[in-house]
Amino acid sequence: MGMPVQFAKFLWPLPWTLLGLVAGLAGLLTGGRARRRGPVIEFYGGAVARLLARIPNRPMAMTLGHVIVGTSAAALDTVRRHELVHVRQYERWGPAFVPVYLFYSVRLWLAGKNAYRDNPFEIEAYRES
Ligand SMILES: [Zn+2]
Repeated sequence: MGMPVQFAKFLWPLPWTLLGLVAGLAGLLTGGRARRRGPVIEFYGGAVARLLARIPNRPMAMTLGHVIVGTSAAALDTVRRHELVHVRQYERWGPAFVPVYLFYSVRLWLAGKNAYRDNPFEIEAYRES
């Protein structure tokens, strides 16, 4: 793959990556840690773990562009393959990823389905991880 394509993949989801970096920085300032794994920076512990605990379903990790935030290093190891599918989804959808994801979730919820498990982005992530 050529450099321009690689660069576009990095640039396209950058707004969400920046949000992830802000969350990660808050984590670092409160005792959390960071590490690079392949195409992503992972943050875990500190305020990052407390933030995840406030989200419905209390996820072990969440992907924001090229950042994955997790409750702990072990949690990130458990869910990395799944979250890397979301990274590729961010590379495809860019700034639209989160709005489109939430649109599906609301539509599924209104239809009486599971807003998380029935979300096509999650179905793809569970199938490929
Ligand atoms: Zn997922």
